[in-house]
Order: sequence, then C-alpha cells, then structure tokens
Amino acid sequence: MSKSAKYIFVTGGVASSLGKGIISASLAKLLQARGYSVTIQKLDPYLNIDPGTLNPYEHGECYVTEDGAETDLDLGHYERFLNIPTSQANNVTTGRIYQSVISKERKGEYLGKTVQVIPHITNEIKEHIQILGNKGDYDFIITEIGGTVGDIESLPFIEAIRQLKWEHHEQVLFIHLTLIPYLAASEELKTKPTQHSVKTLLEYGVQPDILVCRTEHHLNKEIRTKVARFCNVELESVIESIDAETIYDVPLLMQEEKLDEVVLKHLNMPLNSLVDLDKWKEFLHHHKNPIQEVEIGLVGKYVELKDSYKSITEAFIHAGAAKECKVNLKWIASDDLTSESIEEELKGLSGILVAPGFGTRGIEGKIKAVKFARENNIPFLGICLGMQCAVIEYARNVLKLEDAHTVEIKKSAINPVIAMMENQKDISDLGGTMRLGAYACQIKEPSFAYNAYQNTLISERHRHRFEFNNNYLKEFEAKGMKATGINPENNLVEIIEIPKHPWFVGVQFHPEYKSTVINPHPIFLGFVNAAINH
Ligand code: GLN
Repeated sequence: MSKSAKYIFVTGGVASSLGKGIISASLAKLLQARGYSVTIQKLDPYLNIDPGTLNPYEHGECYVTEDGAETDLDLGHYERFLNIPTSQANNVTTGRIYQSVISKERKGEYLGKTVQVIPHITNEIKEHIQILGNKGDYDFIITEIGGTVGDIESLPFIEAIRQLKWEHHEQVLFIHLTLIPYLAASEELKTKPTQHSVKTLLEYGVQPDILVCRTEHHLNKEIRTKVARFCNVELESVIESIDAETIYDVPLLMQEEKLDEVVLKHLNMPLNSLVDLDKWKEFLHHHKNPIQEVEIGLVGKYVELKDSYKSITEAFIHAGAAKECKVNLKWIASDDLTSESIEEELKGLSGILVAPGFGTRGIEGKIKAVKFARENNIPFLGICLGMQCAVIEYARNVLKLEDAHTVEIKKSAINPVIAMMENQKDISDLGGTMRLGAYACQIKEPSFAYNAYQNTLISERHRHRFEFNNNYLKEFEAKGMKATGINPENNLVEIIEIPKHPWFVGVQFHPEYKSTVINPHPIFLGFVNAAINH
C-alpha cells in the first residue's frame, strides 16, 4: 500500500438507501475544502461486470466517465460534489473481480492452487481498492461499499477491508452509516438497530471508528452517549445526519457535526484550518432563493423512477442556481403521449427536454413531443436518443421522408436517417461495447451551441451505437436543420440545431454527465436561459 494515501471505508447498516454516496461525497468535499486531494470509489456487490446492461428500473441511471466506464450513479454525485473526474477504477463490481480472477486462473497464474474466495477474491478486491491510492495523486481514497452489512453478497468486500485495516492500521478508517429510527407512537428515537448493525460488523472483525447516524430528529446527548457506549466509539465520533432539504446541504451539516475534523484526528492528519466552501455556499444560496421559476417538461420512458435521469435533474439544479431560477420539472411519460393528449400535457411549458434511451417503447411519443416543441417555438433540448428523435421528426414532417426512422427500431426503414455506426456493425456483445466516454467536437459559428460554450472545440461524453446518417446531411441543411457540432476525426454529427427556432438543440452526447455545482453545464445554462426568455 502506498504510504502517502489514507483509506476511508464507508459501510451501511440497518437499511439500504441511507445515502452512503452523499455522505462519502460530503466528507470528500470537506477534506477537499481543507486543501486535500480526494477521490471516491464505489464497490458494488452484484455480478454484472458493470451497470451498463441494467435496466434503469433496477439501478437508476448509468453514469459514464471520461474514460468510458459505465458506472453506478453515485459516481455522478462524486463528480458533481468534487468537480474532478472519476474513472473506471472508481467503480468495481463483484462481477469484475470474479472476471479478473477467473481469467487469471485460465492463464495459469495460480497454477497448482485451489482458487478460493479467500484469499484470491479478497486479494483481488484489495488490489482494486489500491489502484487509485498507488497512483500517488490522492491524500484520501474514500471507498463506499454498496449494499447493507449482513448481506451475503458484500461479505468478501468486508473481509478485504478488515484485512487492509489489519495490515495498515494507521492508514485505514471505518465509517459506518446507520439509521436511528423514530417511533412516533412513543415519541422516541431507537438505537437498537444500530447496536445490532455494529454487532454484525464486529462478527466480521470490523470495528467502526465513526458512526454516522441518519435520523429524522436531532440526537440529544443521551442518545449519542448510548450509541457511543454500546458501539465502542468515542462520543465525538457519533455524527448526526439529519434529513436535509437538499443533498447539497449535507456537506455543511457534516461540517457542523465536525465529521471532517474527527476523521483527520483519527488518521493523524493536520486540520489545515482553511475551509474554502465559499462557492458552494453561494450556489446553495442561489438554489434556495430563486428570483424566478420556469417549468420544463422532461419526456422519457422511465419517469416513474426519477433516479433514471439523475444527472439531468442535477444539471438543471446547477444551471437553475446560476440563473437564480427554480427549474420545475414536469415528468412526462413518453408512452402516454398521443396526438389527443399532447396539447394538454405540453402546453404552457417553457422548455421541453427529450431524454436519452433505448428501444421501441415510448419512441413515437418522444417524436410527437419534438414536433410540438418545434412547431410551437418552445425551447427544446434532445439528448442522445432525444437528438435522434428530433432528426427523425424533421425528416418525416419537414423533409417529407416517409418512413424515416432509426435502424435501432426499424432495420428495414427506407429512410434510415439514424444509422448504425460503422464500427458497431460487427459487434454482437451488448456489455461495454457502445461508443463510450469523451470525444472531441468541433463547433460551428454562429450557433446556439457556440453561444453556450463560447468555444469551437469541446469534449463531451458519449454512450450510443447509432448516429446521424451523413447521406442525408445536405438535404437537412437545405431545409433548415443544421449540423453545428461535428467530430473532427470521423465527421460524426454531434449537434443539430434549427437556427430559425428560438432555441432548438439536439446533442448526440450527454452534457448532463459533466455538470457540477461549481461548473454548471453550458448547454443546460443555454437551455434554461432560453426557457426563461420564452
Ligand atoms: N439508443 C440510442 C443509441 O444507442 C441512443 C442512446 C442514448 O440515448 N444513450 O444510439
């Protein structure tokens, strides 16, 4: 283990969805604000190699990194909080660990040995945990262990971190995030589930150093003392995590509770008294005190589960705060949009966003939504599949190309205005095979995109198999839809616009992945601005 890096492991107990990702990101933010370099990693206990093949209903949004890793949505929070990119090394699943061990076994790397969970799987986990630390770039690596303590699936991870603590005692810290439920009938906060959860951890040989306690009501001294005493932690290491109005409050709440100070004390690191959170606080002030509001429709097929579009909703929060404007999202299920219902659903909106996606369901609704935005001069942003729908709509209704479609949905389309990318044609596996990660894009002037970026060369992240069919480009441009962003290497159309429209932009890439608190994304800023002006 590299001597310079400190490792902080965050486990969860009692219940899932307590917000380990937000606590990890908040602690990282506070350490960063004290001048430390920090990164966050997530270990996910499922057998998929990555979440790229998971339906958003299963696991929420799939977040894509600069280096093209398809990852857990928590990595989005890490980037949004810290304003530094993550990478493949920041998200590791059980599937990836097993894949690596099994491929080593086939190569004969363990020749003569029985390959077992302990030590082979746990060693592999330990190696993956240390990849980031060994780079020498970070003072702290915060590793979030997915799942809840006690789950069969996460046992090898817990065993691996137990060993790391045993081997590198002074470099490793354990934080356990737990729940203190409130019983309304007896008006009491209950510590027993936390005691049990810590007991389970102790059975595995892990003694948490710090307990972060999620609660709906403040923890008084008595409760804190009780938790400290029964769970073998110091009183100052019992940290209250009260329900917050927004996730962006959590770093400040953790600061009030001195989580960062307690962590640094445990790890014998200097406090570095300067805590620079000015920009964060300014953002929060604008976010909470908007001077105007707009309503933007988000047309997608997973609108019942808002986590499916996590980065998009957060990007609106960042851009909204920068414009001192509250963006209210109206969630519109694309399957339900019919010629009869569309007027009712979309009228009065200040902007319409058609979301990314895959497959047939809801696509005709998305195309109808584009048409409505185009014909009624409502600011429009289409992302990935949303951009492709804008192209199909224009082809059908303006170019009068009957049967225009994407070959993703209609292989035999007479007018395949969205076609499969050339280098995708021989690929048969679905996992990790799309065009993924950051690619350059040349922006033409004048354009909405240039106005937004104020730059002619940008880089954005991708996740797609299909593209604008350049055979139709001349015809589109002649009829008023322009390609204003082009990949300089292969001419792939990255941005389309209708210059005659007040603000109509379709992007093949995903701007939402790069929006952060400190750097709201130019495309979202442009879109929100257009919505305000509408
Ligand atoms: N399904 C489309 C493609 O693969 C769009 C993907 C997306 O929206 N992320 O090209």
